Amino acid sequence: MSVQTLHRGQGVIRRWRGWLPEIPEQAVAELGEGDTPLVEATRLSGRVGARVYLKLEGLNPTASFKDRGMTVAMSRAAAAGRTACVCASTGNTAASAAAYAARAGMVCFVVVPAGKIALGKAVQVLAHGAEIVQIEGNFDAALRLSRRAAEELEHVALVNSVNPDRIEGQKTAAFEVCEALGRPPEALALPVGNAGNITAYWKGFTEWQRAGRAAGRPRMLGFQAAGAAPLVAGHDIESPETVASAIRIGSPASREGALRAVRESGGLIESVTDAEILEAQDLLAREEGVFCEPASAAGVAGLLKLAREGRAPAGTAVCVLTGHGLKDPDAVLSRVRLPEPVPATFEDVARRLGA
Ligand SMILES: *Cc1c(COP(=O)(O)O)cnc(C)c1O
Repeated sequence: MSVQTLHRGQGVIRRWRGWLPEIPEQAVAELGEGDTPLVEATRLSGRVGARVYLKLEGLNPTASFKDRGMTVAMSRAAAAGRTACVCASTGNTAASAAAYAARAGMVCFVVVPAGKIALGKAVQVLAHGAEIVQIEGNFDAALRLSRRAAEELEHVALVNSVNPDRIEGQKTAAFEVCEALGRPPEALALPVGNAGNITAYWKGFTEWQRAGRAAGRPRMLGFQAAGAAPLVAGHDIESPETVASAIRIGSPASREGALRAVRESGGLIESVTDAEILEAQDLLAREEGVFCEPASAAGVAGLLKLAREGRAPAGTAVCVLTGHGLKDPDAVLSRVRLPEPVPATFEDVARRLGA
């Protein structure tokens, strides 16, 4: 079952205006983002022993949740008279910034670690005509440089999730989850990289409760990749490594927000291995028909791990699938390949069909 959505195409600014910072109508740069489907995952529910729903954030305009925050950040930058934006990115922020900058008529610079961007994301940035600056360094260095550029150049806005407008836009996903279910879930599982998204969801659930729209808030279950788990280790990771490139981050910019969400919700931040992440990605694709990129499967991998250890959350759990599987074709192609062609005869084809 999928929970019906009524506002698809409206965009998060017009849909949630009263909950967001002020944006003059003429500055709104939107692409109909948000109002993504929340689908029940029956086979996964059976494996976990809880009622599991998937929030399909890969169905946003540039195929990741980053669009929710980018529409707000870019519109506010335009309203403030900025003519260019800059961001550091592992890929999806860059793809989203490139699209929304094009929409807003702004110049877009993206600073990325050389050779580390998934194919689909690089293609998006190129298609939208953004300027790519590849650096010989990791994401954390890219963010430092982008911050400095935005500080020193007055016409340039920083659109990373350290920009509070990004968090404001992203919190709208929590509102949608509450509306679709009719109440907040008992648990929300999601991948954690820079920790902007877990910060944003917690802000959203908290505002929803304060407004008297719900009695409670979910436990926040954040999962990092084992090779890039600074919040689990308790210190920065010098050279983070994981197949899940979207969460390959050694020094999370929003670490305080993540720790607060976990503390206040009685939640947790743990790590999952690359093997567990890829297994969860496969399982979602083959048993639920949902194709997400590796990082997006970390929340599901985490729930499966908790279930194996007898710690599965009770009640309803929502897994945020942050980005679409087509973002990172190599993640699949390195594991499965196309079979050799066969002659075009019925016998040869029938053999392949198991006759
Ligand atoms: C950005 C991103 C994340 C991590 O979100 P943070 O806010 O950095 O914690 C996870 N998955 C995907 C697909 C992303 O693009």
